[in-house]
Amino acid sequence: EKNLQKKPEWLQKKITPSMMREVETMIAGSGLHTICQEALCPNIAECFSKRVATFLILGHLCTRGCTFCNVTKKRPLPPDPDEPQRVAETVGQMGLRHVVVTSPTRDDLPDGGAGHFGQTVKAIKTLDPTIVVEILVPDFHEDEKAIETAARSGAEIVGHNIETIPRLYHIRKGADYERSLRVLKNLSSANPDIATKSGIMLGLGERKEEVLETMEDILKTGCRLLSIGQYLAPSRRHTPVVEFVEPALFDFYRQAGMAMGYRYIKSSPYTRSSYMAHEYLQTSQTF
Ligand code: SF4
Ligand code: SF4
Repeated sequence: EKNLQKKPEWLQKKITPSMMREVETMIAGSGLHTICQEALCPNIAECFSKRVATFLILGHLCTRGCTFCNVTKKRPLPPDPDEPQRVAETVGQMGLRHVVVTSPTRDDLPDGGAGHFGQTVKAIKTLDPTIVVEILVPDFHEDEKAIETAARSGAEIVGHNIETIPRLYHIRKGADYERSLRVLKNLSSANPDIATKSGIMLGLGERKEEVLETMEDILKTGCRLLSIGQYLAPSRRHTPVVEFVEPALFDFYRQAGMAMGYRYIKSSPYTRSSYMAHEYLQTSQTF
């Protein structure tokens, strides 16, 4: 019987408290949210010191409520029209060179929040067009116009996470595996100049063949960037971890994916879709 209360040694990261405080002060002063903090991400000290952060726009309340996610399910507030500008200013203050922007799912908004994503990208690019912007968007209920807005927002990378294999989709509330695949495909066709990206979590009880099949499905949408990480339950109320996947298996999936035709895969226990997101650019010449 495996002990899943105690994390294995490869999942025990040390966090520098002083750096954490500095970052927290800056974010708190801006009145913004980061998924780094909301999701209790274990990479926070490392990411901020490498000048990567992920802003959570459109509030910190979600209309869905996936059983693996720490974001609160509650009726969200209307979008804050000043938020795009404040994100841009904070990005400038923090000296970020690669910004990831994401949001909860906003099924309550007619455009799912796509317009607000667009305004946020525009505000960052107006501040400095050389800052690379990556947006990680919800499925927008597959709305064509919202997908086009996201794809043509000016962000270089547009991501939508598949999260898990189809058999385990009951943990993604209100989501549909095939629909999420179509979202990725439609993002690519709405703007062939962007790179699309996706992410999956391991440790939820998926089998190797199922992971490889899901990777093939994602690749078929035209998506060439993938992140694979270990699922960690945010609390006892969330979907429990079924296993801690060994680092060697993460390497196996990365190699298998590169052989399938992916251009870049980050795969390790600590990988999150935004983890070391800037590295992709250092390893590729073109978008
Ligand atoms: Fe934030 Fe992503 Fe880094 Fe986690 S991996 S700290 S969510 S940027
Ligand atoms: Fe979390 Fe996204 Fe699910 Fe909302 S839709 S609960 S933000 S994973």
